[in-house]
Amino acid sequence: MRTYPDFVPNLIGGAYETAASGEQIEVFNPHSGEVIGRVARSRREDVSRAIASARAAQPGWASTPGVVRGEILHAIASEIEAHREELAYLVALEAGKREDDALAEVRAAVQCARFFAGEGQRLFGRTTTSGKPNRFAMTVRQPCGVAGLIIAANTPAPNFAWKVFPALICGNSIVLKPSEHTPASAWYMAKLAYQAKTALKDVLPPGVLNLVHGHGPEAGQPIVEDEGTDVVSFTGSAATGKAIGALAGSMLKKLSLELGGKNALIICDDADMRNAVDCAVSSAFSNAGQRCAAASRILVSEKIYPSFIEDFVQATHNIKLGVEIDCKVGPVISNNQLQNMCAAVAAAAGTGANIITGGSRDISPALKGGFYMQPTILEDVGPGQDLWDTELFGPVALVHSVSDFQQAVELANRSRYGLTASIHTQDINKALAFVQMIHTGVAVINGGTHGSEPHMPFGGVKNSGNGSREPGTEALDVYSELQDVYINVTPP
Ligand code: NAD
Repeated sequence: MRTYPDFVPNLIGGAYETAASGEQIEVFNPHSGEVIGRVARSRREDVSRAIASARAAQPGWASTPGVVRGEILHAIASEIEAHREELAYLVALEAGKREDDALAEVRAAVQCARFFAGEGQRLFGRTTTSGKPNRFAMTVRQPCGVAGLIIAANTPAPNFAWKVFPALICGNSIVLKPSEHTPASAWYMAKLAYQAKTALKDVLPPGVLNLVHGHGPEAGQPIVEDEGTDVVSFTGSAATGKAIGALAGSMLKKLSLELGGKNALIICDDADMRNAVDCAVSSAFSNAGQRCAAASRILVSEKIYPSFIEDFVQATHNIKLGVEIDCKVGPVISNNQLQNMCAAVAAAAGTGANIITGGSRDISPALKGGFYMQPTILEDVGPGQDLWDTELFGPVALVHSVSDFQQAVELANRSRYGLTASIHTQDINKALAFVQMIHTGVAVINGGTHGSEPHMPFGGVKNSGNGSREPGTEALDVYSELQDVYINVTPP
């Protein structure tokens, strides 16, 4: 299958449906700017039905042994793997990516599914001593119930996998709202999930995984507000995360927030310069800068600042834009995002920022109509200025010279975000001091600011999240409740 669906439906109780209102939203190909399909525009009543379906299916799924749930997840992983080319095609088209990059993301999603499938054979609790005689104390993991999941568009397949697979293995049923920009990837992954069969013909029961599509305030917010969701997990911007946090907090609902970043890449004067430039380019511009872990503040030792800038700008000029195999930077997800970014860069220039390269929409004939931002490097933006701490979620990087290691770390920490950071140095002492001093959820030595792995806990401090970590085994804590069990025995 290499066609984009004309219409991407909701999936409720195992059946594909239009939104109750019949309304639809256009889906665009960010590379061409053309409409490629339509998706259901759901509202509260669609969400309520999806939650009711999830509630009805959850007890049966929870009572399916964890090991069997794991076997079903293995089958789902294999089904996705068998259809990886078709899935990558949809991802590439609706998210505006190279197909081989989309394929790599699909492989990461499969790895994530396999990791959580294996957890079905563990789902460890803890056995410990008791303060009383003849008493055993332990914890077991119980499902939360219905998981309401809301995800962003930037890497549609891993975003689906990071939440859906840990939620399923813990015995929850799901109502997922994918991004309105990338609905077909989630629709196809859910279709494959239901199609998968174990050797003993076990399948995912209808209603365990439900999809409602639509705009955030219309189809996402009701997922948070409905009493029927027991845990909410959200990946998106800090602004939306705060609104969701306020709502969920007022209901005392369990919540995981995976939010944005304004991540710093520090380059010391003893860095391997070639690696540092490569990592700066990939961290700032790969996936068109649409990574929560993108490097958007590059802090460079003043001793090497001129030579680094020369190499970094040269490497940036060598980047070909597009989605063909020799291209390094694709479009951003929507025209709206492109316009906001151009306006933010223009506003920064108006208050003294120096645009070293890029700065506006790319209007070369081959990319006409696409949502392309030129890879942009700015200097003369510092703490206290808007762009220093505003996540643009596009191919825009600030460069800033620093006098020494202390100032670099101090400036790196001068942010309302705390998701990832990286340092480039050959000095192990400096590298480990950086790990101690940097206030982020992820610290990298001599690499990019991005590149998290599915078996590792990802997440940030400050405005980058609310303290939860997904995926890794830590995601099991998001999607299960630890229950204490005390067993009192009568001594013989
Ligand atoms: P966004 O917050 O606008 O939207 C994310 C999702 O939330 C979408 O599905 C959207 O429809 C929905 N939504 C929007 N408003 C809502 C509301 N009021 N109630 C409920 N749902 C709502 O973010 P975006 O622009 O789509 O994504 C980019 C952001 O996501 C960036 O800030 C990026 O850093 C962040 N992100 C974080 C991670 C992470 O793991 N920390 C990963 C990827 C992206």
